[in-house]
Amino acid sequence: MQKPPARLSMVCYPDPRLRKVCAPVEEFGPELADLAGKMLELMREAQGVGLAAPQVGVLSRLFVCNVTSEPEDDLVLVNPVLSELEGDIEGEEGCLSIPDVTVKMRRAKSCVMRALDVHGKPMELRAEDLLARCWQHECDHLDGRLIIDRMSEADRIANRKLLKELEKKHSRRAIAL
Ligand code: ZN
Repeated sequence: MQKPPARLSMVCYPDPRLRKVCAPVEEFGPELADLAGKMLELMREAQGVGLAAPQVGVLSRLFVCNVTSEPEDDLVLVNPVLSELEGDIEGEEGCLSIPDVTVKMRRAKSCVMRALDVHGKPMELRAEDLLARCWQHECDHLDGRLIIDRMSEADRIANRKLLKELEKKHSRRAIAL
């Protein structure tokens, strides 16, 4: 795994790192635990319910989530694989990497998650509704997919200005090296 930065910051659209297919995690050591802990912290600070590694510039297959804000519901999912995606439900979705943009997304209502925990121990979990939606959103991140990829025409028009502003901001930052 690439060495995580000492202090994490949010990678925002249209940063090309959000478009990469991330590599499986192969080492389960203190560095991974440290990264996961910092990701949970940043997710809480940003008031999100999930955060994937590419959103902090680490192109590895892991994400953290917590849809209840209760500390005991913190989850770190490494090398996640979804299956048994069932049902079909529309909901509003945002993304910490695309500030202020919300999109109506159809997602499976329930799914099964097979993943490793931060120590490399396998687990199998089932979720519905918000947690299932969160897992699908975060797994998309690990394959370089974003909520704006499947926007309806109405959402495309509604979010056009915000997306343009983010694109402009990004290109200005790129020049200001
Ligand atoms: Zn996101």
